[in-house]
Amino acid sequence: MRGRLVAGNWKSNGDLAANEALLGHIRAAAADLQGAACAVCVPYPYLFQARQVLAHSTVAWGGQDVSQFGAGAYTGAVTAVMLREFDCRYVIVGHSERRSVFGERNEVVAAKFGAASQAGLTPILCVGETLQERETGKMEEVVGAQLDAVIAAKGAAAMGSAVVAYEPVWAIGTGKTATPEQAQAAHAFIRARIAAHHAVIASKLVILYGGSVKAANAGQLFAMPDIDGGLIGGAALVAEEFMAICRAAERR
Ligand code: PEP
Repeated sequence: MRGRLVAGNWKSNGDLAANEALLGHIRAAAADLQGAACAVCVPYPYLFQARQVLAHSTVAWGGQDVSQFGAGAYTGAVTAVMLREFDCRYVIVGHSERRSVFGERNEVVAAKFGAASQAGLTPILCVGETLQERETGKMEEVVGAQLDAVIAAKGAAAMGSAVVAYEPVWAIGTGKTATPEQAQAAHAFIRARIAAHHAVIASKLVILYGGSVKAANAGQLFAMPDIDGGLIGGAALVAEEFMAICRAAERR
């Protein structure tokens, strides 16, 4: 049976005092989660704090982006090895905000995926279509190309140590959630695309849904056969809400 994971994406939010309270609450509440793992992806400056609060707990932490390069003259970039030094387990790559705001193309995302894997991090590879792409019937074409770029650059076997997050762009931060059936169809498509290269890896691949997940809709989404948890933005900043989503992912 595949594992379940709920990961918070804090984006550019937080401050030392608020983080201390949020991380402390998550640490305590996650201790008795069963059959579901929990993680938080925090802004770089707060990795030290996340490690301090979450060390020796059941909660993992990670970054929200990583450089495709190693050490060197890349002003502002943070390497995968640096993230490992802060004991990150995960790093998000290819989030739609990185793609749309910072212009990251599929090839750059694939290079970041590779840098993360090589350093021993678990990349959380985000894929998803815009509203226009969905409405013009292009979801599979767009998501397929996002997956194929990583497979072409790093090989299908690299998916064996990764997590994929299906995040329809039209559902991120909009309050508009994909229906469980829409999300399931996209997740099944993703799993089939990878199965065409490697059936065993595809069957074990953890695929998260992201896009306005809340405590109120998490249970229905996580009940779908190919949805293995969630990548959570806004709701990850509210301790009770985030932990209720984690509990909805439990397998007892
Ligand atoms: C995200 O940023 O990955 C996300 C899913 O955000 P939200 O939950 O706020 O839609």
